[in-house]
Amino acid sequence: MNEFTAVCIHCKSNFNVPAENNGKLMKCTECNKKFIARNLQYKESNMPQKQIPTQTVPNRYVATVQIKTKQNRMERVFLSGGLIGALTTNPKSAIEGKIKILNTQGWNCRQILPHGTHNLFITIVQTIILVCTLGLWTFGGGYLLLFEKEVN
Ligand SMILES: [Zn+2]
Repeated sequence: MNEFTAVCIHCKSNFNVPAENNGKLMKCTECNKKFIARNLQYKESNMPQKQIPTQTVPNRYVATVQIKTKQNRMERVFLSGGLIGALTTNPKSAIEGKIKILNTQGWNCRQILPHGTHNLFITIVQTIILVCTLGLWTFGGGYLLLFEKEVN
């Protein structure tokens, strides 16, 4: 026959009561007050163990940030002047050709700027060459191409 020790909540008297009286209303023989007999030992031993989380920091919240830096590159497209330049130079195809070559290397064209000289000496030399070649050829202006590339 199973018994457990019930404690009166009013006078703290101990009683041995049958197991089936667990959780039932009892009358204390000492103070004549009513209390609910509870088998505390039984309850404690049958309490579910607290689940201890094995992983306190969920790794799904860990994010990696990849920082990409951009590289720039300046390229010049030279165009010929004079009669030969006027007849043979096609600025559009010259620029396109340059961009195509650099695209294969991973560079993207961001900006195209006309590149002329504002230096009087250069202009004089250009003119002298033009005169010496009887107006056939001189070095001319061109374009500046700004390229950009993403680098890991
Ligand atoms: Zn009592």
